[in-house]
Formats: sequence, C-alpha cells, structure tokens
Amino acid sequence: MLVGHKVVDSTASMLPTTSSSSIGTRHDSAPDYTTAIINALPYGVVCFGLASNNTIIVHSANPHAQSLFGFSNIDALPASLSSIWASTQKDSLADKIRETLEKKQPITYEWTAHNKDGDHYLSSQLQPIVNAAGDRRLVLCTIEDQTAEKLAEKNIMHHAFHDALTGQPNRVLFRNKLEETVIKGENSDEPFGCAVLIVNIDRFQLINESFGHSAGDRFLISMASTLRRCIGSQDILARLSGDEFAILVPNMRGIQPVIDVCERIHTAMKQPYDLDGNEVFTSVSIGVASTISSATHPEDLIRDADFAMHRAKIAGKACTEVYRRESHQEARSLFHLETELRRAVERQELQLYYQPIIDLRTSELHGFEALTRWQHKEHGFVSPVEFIQLAEETGIIVPLGRWAIEACCTCLKHWIMEVGEDKVVPINVNVSGVQFARDDVASVVENALKKYNLPGRLLRIELTESSIMANPEHISLSLDRIRALGVKVALDDFGTGYSSLNYLHQFPIDIIKIDRAFINQLKRGNAQFKILEMIGMLATNLGHQIVAEGLEDTEHIDMVTEMGFAFAQGFYYSRPVAGVDAAKMVHGQLPWT
Ligand code: C2E
Ligand code: MG
Ligand code: MG
Repeated sequence: MLVGHKVVDSTASMLPTTSSSSIGTRHDSAPDYTTAIINALPYGVVCFGLASNNTIIVHSANPHAQSLFGFSNIDALPASLSSIWASTQKDSLADKIRETLEKKQPITYEWTAHNKDGDHYLSSQLQPIVNAAGDRRLVLCTIEDQTAEKLAEKNIMHHAFHDALTGQPNRVLFRNKLEETVIKGENSDEPFGCAVLIVNIDRFQLINESFGHSAGDRFLISMASTLRRCIGSQDILARLSGDEFAILVPNMRGIQPVIDVCERIHTAMKQPYDLDGNEVFTSVSIGVASTISSATHPEDLIRDADFAMHRAKIAGKACTEVYRRESHQEARSLFHLETELRRAVERQELQLYYQPIIDLRTSELHGFEALTRWQHKEHGFVSPVEFIQLAEETGIIVPLGRWAIEACCTCLKHWIMEVGEDKVVPINVNVSGVQFARDDVASVVENALKKYNLPGRLLRIELTESSIMANPEHISLSLDRIRALGVKVALDDFGTGYSSLNYLHQFPIDIIKIDRAFINQLKRGNAQFKILEMIGMLATNLGHQIVAEGLEDTEHIDMVTEMGFAFAQGFYYSRPVAGVDAAKMVHGQLPWT
C-alpha cells in the first residue's frame, strides 16, 4: 500500500481518474479488490488535493467518510471542499491539509463534527501522497470515529467525580472546586471569601433501620434535591459520604447570605417526607466554616466545618454552628478525649464499680448497680456523666455497653463459683437508649447469659425514660425479648424527665428507680412527698418494685420506708465500690452499711 510518501501500484489506482463518488473506481476489466476493501473499511478515507488557486479539492471519499463528514452532492467529485461540505470546520481542516503538504509528513488531527445524529469525536491522520501521474499535492485523510470511546471515557470521568446515588459531585470534585475557588478568591483584584457547609442528617440511621436501605437511598436522593432548591445557582452541592452533604458558597461577601442558605435548609426540612406512605420528619445539623473566620486551606475549611457540624449535633441537632477559632482548641481536646475513650474501651481499661441496693424491710443486700469508671492517665477520674454522653454522641457506647454487660456476667460467674448461685445477688447494668437504637441489645444479653451459663434473674437492665421516649416501639420489642430471658428491666431516673404515669403500665418494666433529684426535694407532707406516695401506690398496684436512689441520710430512709418502698440505694449505705469489695459484700465479709 503506502510506502514512505509514495503511492505504489494498487494505491495508485485509488486515486481519482474520473468523477467517481467513491474511492478506487477502476475502469479496466480486472476485478477491483482495492475499491471493495476501501469501501468496506470501518473508518473513513478521503483523498484531498490542492488546486492551483490554493483551494482544497475532494477527489474521492469512501462511503464511511461521506457519512461522517456529511458531504453533499457527492456525484460531483472531484469538487472543492467548500462546495460539498457546509461545516464551519472546513477552514481549519483546509489549514491542516496545507500544513501536511508543507511539512511533507503525516499529522494527526482530533476534531468534533456535528452530524444529523449528534456530535462525533473524530481522529484523523493526514498523510501526503503522490499519485501515479506524479501529483504531489495530494493528502490521504483517514477518519476514525472515536465517539463511543470518548463517551465511555467521559462516563468513567463522571463516575470518578460524582456520587452514583444522587449524581452530585463527590468529595474529590468538591475538594477540587473548593481549591479552585480559594485560589481565585486570593488572586482576584478584589479578594473575596468562600464558605463550606457540612450538612449531616440527624438520626438517618433510624430511617435505614425502620424502613430499609432502599428507602434510605430514596430519602438521600430526595434530600439532595431539597438541598439543591435551597442553594444559589453558583453554589456547589456535593455528597461526601452516607448521610453527609457539603455545600460550597463561592464569592462570599459576608456571612449573612450563608446563614440565609442554612435557614432555608432548616425550613425545608420541616416539611414531612413521604416514604412509602409514611410521613417522615427529619432535621439536619449544619456546620459552617468560611475563609473569613476560619482557615484558607481547603482541607482545613472542610475539617473546621465538620467540627462545627459536630458542635451543632452536641447543641441538640437541627441547628447551625459557625466555626469559631476559639472553639478549635476545645474541639481538638474533645476529639482527643474521644480517641482515648475509644482506646480505653478497646483495651478494656474501664472498670465497673458496684453500688449496693438494699432491701429496706430486712436491711439485707438485695443487689448491685454496676457503674462504669474511667481513670484517665492525665485528666484523672472522668465522670460517667461526661464520658457516657461523649460515648453516645460518637457511637462508642455500643462497644462500651457490650463490654459492661459482659463484665457484669464475668463478675456474676466468679461470685457463683465462690459462694454458690443461691447466695449471689443480681447486678443491674445501665444500657443507653443509643445502644438500643444501634445494637441488638436482647441478643447481646442472651449471648452473654449463654456464654457464662447464667440464669437471667441475676442480670438486670436499667434504662432511662428519655431513651424509651426516643423510640418507644422498637425499645418495647427489645424489652419483651429481654424479659423473656428472665432478666428484669428497671426504669431509671424516674422523676427527672417526662415521668409519664402512662409508662408505668404501658411499658414492659419490672422496677422503677426514683431519681436522686426527686428524693432530694422530699419534705414530709410537701407536694413531691404526696406525688411520690401516689406513684408508689400506683406502681405497687401494677406489680412493679420501687428502688429509691440517692439516699444520703436517715430522714430520707424514714420517708421512703413510710411510703412502703421496698428497696434503696445511696451513699448512706455505700458508695459504689470496686469489684473486690463488692465480692466481699457478697461473701458477707464486708458490711454494706
Ligand atoms: P444512674 O444510673 O442513675 O446511677 C446512679 C448515679 O448516682 C451514680 O453516679 C451513683 O454514683 C450516684 N449516686 C448513688 N447514690 C448516691 C447518693 O446518695 N448521692 C449522690 N450524690 N450520688 C449518688 P455515677 O456513677 O456518676 O453515674 C452517673 C450516671 O452515668 C448513671 O446514673 C448512669 O446513667 C450513667 N452510667 C454509669 N455507668 C454507665 C454504664 O456503664 N452504661 C451507661 N449507659 N450509663 C452509665
Ligand atoms: Mg442506673
Ligand atoms: Mg438512676
């Protein structure tokens, strides 16, 4: 075929000798294989020439080339390029043909042609050739249609930078856009700032758990369109991960327009979302960081907005927190504490202390409440009031709660081996509402009892009213399963929260623990006294036991005994004690009062 720049033998016959509409028309009697081959090629082949007046002539074109170019009036070949091709690209193609002839070497030309069936991405090779007559002003042009490959490439690029579920930019693209915006703002004549918003859906896990993951996916898609409606046309929305979105507000002149975006989002979230016929209400927590109040490095902006979002969660969710530099240190130390708590749970560095529960009628030891203790190497004793909340916010409560249940069972097993099952008293373990929402508490309890071969009556579960309120139906079902194992359930902190008397008969509970705050307010004959007396009667009638918590003096003890309460717990009897001392109490070697 083609050798160097010369056309030899068969190719020479491709070159135009008549006004043929396709390449390689021969007029001798020999069979014309070349024409057949060239016409059947899956890419276009055109032979261009340069006329003496410097115009480009099309000598011949195979059918594929004709359709790719969209040549018209093809029967008139040879013809000037402009007379058969209406495209606006004829000048640049003509330039390329001239360039090929000037350079006397092949060149590659990538271009886009618009045909009746849309845009085509084409790749052409232009090659100078000489025909049998010695004409050196000819260029052989091959055209390959790379539309499918290009579209596939585009598709791959789209997936690399977009979230498959919502179609929004992903973290990588968001990070790139943010970087571009920061640089643009810094280099502008009138420097401007930008803001990053991290939007996290509150309690998204509950949607997934209650309605299933495909409903959760649909919710996320609708969430993306809600957010799109709330942002400006220049703003960029991205999905960073599961239930977390980010918004970039570029060209920000002040914080107020950003706060307005947040307000629009909170207002939009007040509308119920229809999930398979169920009205679902959710909220979002938003963290804002801007180049004005925070950092200028993209990663730092995202990190600061994320910190601010976590502060919004801690502040009670459904709100916006704007990042402040001062909160940085605080946030860092909180983060540090979180890491250490996680480690403490993993390495089992937490300890259980046991506070005796006394039978008021016999003054006998009735049981213990297990309370978790964390002795931090730098901060010293960290109160459970602090770290349980941190554990709940970070999800660490799940391994922590599992550890506490297991540790109680280990302790009970030791006692049984030492004094025999009959003498062992039950241990109450506190289980957080967050754990009920995220973990299968009933199975955890069942497995722990099986593992240590313990009767259910020796373990008791304490949970607060507020955790029941968060998810009454789900918790009720778990409690039913737990009670079926013979494990009693205590309603903790009664008197501090809702104190709805409804719970007393609606919920599957056995024991009510009256909170210390309520006990503290007791004066003989005052309102609290009368209320508690009534609750006591009601609970007893419903078959519940009552434990009065936080008893510190004899006056408290006299009052609760008068009310007919059966059990008590408080510093008057004993503070929570280490496992060894609790064992001594069980052995009868250490008094509990
Ligand atoms: P809680 O379950 O109501 O436990 C009783 C709390 O009252 C304990 O505080 C106990 O030390 C304290 N207390 C008992 N008697 C008296 C008294 O006479 N006077 C005073 N001033 N206080 C008394 P602690 O150990 O600081 O625990 C606080 C809370 O932390 C617990 O309240 C419980 O809600 C939570 N908690 C502790 N350990 C765990 C755990 O392992 N898991 C979970 N989820 N929560 C836990
Ligand atoms: Mg408790
Ligand atoms: Mg309590």
